[in-house]
Amino acid sequence: MIPPGADTVLVRHADVGVKSGKVQTEMERRLRDNVAALLDDRGVDAEVERRWSRLLVHADESSVDAATDAAADAFGVQSASAALVVPPEEDAIVDALARTAREYAATDAAGDTFAVDARRAGEPEAHPFTSKDLENEGGAAVFAELDDPEVDLDDPDATFFVECREDEAFVFTEQRAGPGGLPLGSQGKVVALVSGGIDSPVAAWEMMKRGAPLVPVYLELGDYGGPDHEARAMETVRRLADYAPNFEMAVRRVPAGDVMALLDEEVGPARMLVYRRFMYRVAEHVARETNAAGIVTGEAVGQKSSQTTRNLAATSVATDLPIHRPLLSMDKPEITERARRIGTFRDSTIPAGCNRIAPDFPETNATPGIVDEAQPEGLYDRAREAAANATLVEL
Ligand code: ATP
Ligand code: MG
Repeated sequence: MIPPGADTVLVRHADVGVKSGKVQTEMERRLRDNVAALLDDRGVDAEVERRWSRLLVHADESSVDAATDAAADAFGVQSASAALVVPPEEDAIVDALARTAREYAATDAAGDTFAVDARRAGEPEAHPFTSKDLENEGGAAVFAELDDPEVDLDDPDATFFVECREDEAFVFTEQRAGPGGLPLGSQGKVVALVSGGIDSPVAAWEMMKRGAPLVPVYLELGDYGGPDHEARAMETVRRLADYAPNFEMAVRRVPAGDVMALLDEEVGPARMLVYRRFMYRVAEHVARETNAAGIVTGEAVGQKSSQTTRNLAATSVATDLPIHRPLLSMDKPEITERARRIGTFRDSTIPAGCNRIAPDFPETNATPGIVDEAQPEGLYDRAREAAANATLVEL
């Protein structure tokens, strides 16, 4: 439930707050632009303002709910609250709390226990009351509106929040969780290898969460992939792009069917490892061309035979760029839960194409030398050519 009359969103940022002054200002500006782009993309008419190292979104009563959701989808946001703005006076605040409680009491979700959580910011002498006064007076007002209520400060059914600033006070009831992290664009780009599986979009999203825009790359595997496989990869990138309307997210589609056929024919137990090297090399070329600073994959230690610690070592030598693996230590249920939360799960439930060329008895304990031996001559030339032949798929 949102306070009646709420028309403003209070946006708290996450890791931005740990930065030095100048960096923080720049990050706040970036966050402001990103939130404004999300609002615009969703057709929400609202203004974003930077204030007291927060953002305020000025919407109206009919759009404040959608504006809160949009703000809570921006990377770098800790939480967002739809708030009722009142003068910073005790009477006005207590009255706003009472009105909010009355509305709350009328909803089906209304519980019995509540708390009032008041904070005062600014100079102590700015207000003739303390936050404790607000909690006491406000608590009494809320109490009077609810049906047989009880105060519970530890685990209340509802919390009525007050944030009192020098010039205005905010009353709100929810803190919608954002993704946390840093504003998108505050880090250098990374090439995201997206397969259409469950893992890769989650890994890519984790890099976006830390501020890195993506250069999505999909390897088209010919007979070893297929249109459903590809459609899923594109669909998951589209979901990711929804979080980044002011960033270019076209997918680079790299032809790799020939190489897959070659590996299928010529390479035995180390086939998948050679394929991994090829893939990293392709990503490296795209990174050089697009000025990206690294590669992100959905690999996790031991999840597949190609992802044992030894095999990751034996394949990572194909590139000098850092390969970011945000899912490194995660279990599949954990990754799946995240995929559901960020909205990429539904589009990625069919196993990706690798399964179709995996050898029956894959190497699990390779050394770089073993993969060197298995690697067809000219593999890296093929990677360069494949990257050069990439086509751009606009979403
Ligand atoms: P996902 O990891 O996305 O669920 P998967 O587990 O089947 O799919 P693997 O085939 O083991 O993935 O590949 C590991 C990683 O390599 C993927 O997370 C992804 O980053 C990358 N990758 C795999 N196949 C492709 C592809 N066809 N195009 C681009 N990247 C790919
Ligand atoms: Mg995987």
